[in-house]
Amino acid sequence: MTHLLGGIEAGGTKFVCAVGDEQGNIQERVKFPTRTPAETMKDVFAFFDKYPVEAIGIGSFGPIDINPDSPTYGYITDTPKLAWKNYNFLGAMKARYDIAYEWTTDVNVAGYGEYKKGAGVGKENVLYVTVGTGIGVGYISHGELYRGRSHPEGGHILLQRELGDDFAGVCPYHGACLEGLAAGPAVEKRAGKKGNLLLPTDHAWETEAFYLAQACMTYTLTFSPDVIIFGGGVMKQAQLFPLVRTKFLELMHDYVRIPDLDKYIVHVELGDDAGITGCLLAAADVLGK
Ligand code: ADP
Ligand code: ZN
Repeated sequence: MTHLLGGIEAGGTKFVCAVGDEQGNIQERVKFPTRTPAETMKDVFAFFDKYPVEAIGIGSFGPIDINPDSPTYGYITDTPKLAWKNYNFLGAMKARYDIAYEWTTDVNVAGYGEYKKGAGVGKENVLYVTVGTGIGVGYISHGELYRGRSHPEGGHILLQRELGDDFAGVCPYHGACLEGLAAGPAVEKRAGKKGNLLLPTDHAWETEAFYLAQACMTYTLTFSPDVIIFGGGVMKQAQLFPLVRTKFLELMHDYVRIPDLDKYIVHVELGDDAGITGCLLAAADVLGK
């Protein structure tokens, strides 16, 4: 039987809302810029008022509260986007539509989409990393969205600096964490021009790969995934992949052996559809529960 399901990919710059089926096939979708909660939710409601969906999967920017026992479960918590700070996103949705919800991070839904329909098909443990305006990490462990006390924040791990890199870093919380050193805005600020304008042979990509390789090493040592999937604007630089793999090998010193590295550190397959597809698939799961 086909169920009508909804998805909301709530990003810091844009929202994508869609309806579709349990297989993650998108029937209709809309996109609009993220403004204040009042303005943005008006657009969300205008879309879903038209469709009697049975469940909605929400992947939100954050950090968000995903602990069902917490009094602020369903809230966006500490975001630098001040209008959304302490906003009860899930509560607003539930007040409008009394249906089942998956409530998780934007990176988790993209990872889930890749796990079910993209580069993670056939794998049980999928580590997904997006390198864009920020760096986000989602983890699917034995087919489930991994959750500890909260969701992983693997974009903010600390690293060893590349010799000679004295760039201060752009993370508002930590300065020179992974996101501060290697997200799109860091690449741009260090180089003095946009990443897409740098030559593929620019040393900037060696620097970038050194940081991403360290991240891969840390994720390998702590989560032991079957695959590490990279998405996001910066990873459109295809030359990064061989560089990251080579540096990963050098750093790891065979401590953990990965038999087929080309299939271990890989690019997303669903591209821009990963997140919204994952939302629909996650909605299908909550409907079954
Ligand atoms: P977001 O993270 O906001 O969802 P993206 O994943 O597209 O969006 O990431 C945007 C960042 O990626 C920007 O900092 C941009 O400069 C960088 N970026 C986008 N395309 C490229 C490219 N082809 N090469 C290098 N950097 C890119
Ligand atoms: Zn940080």
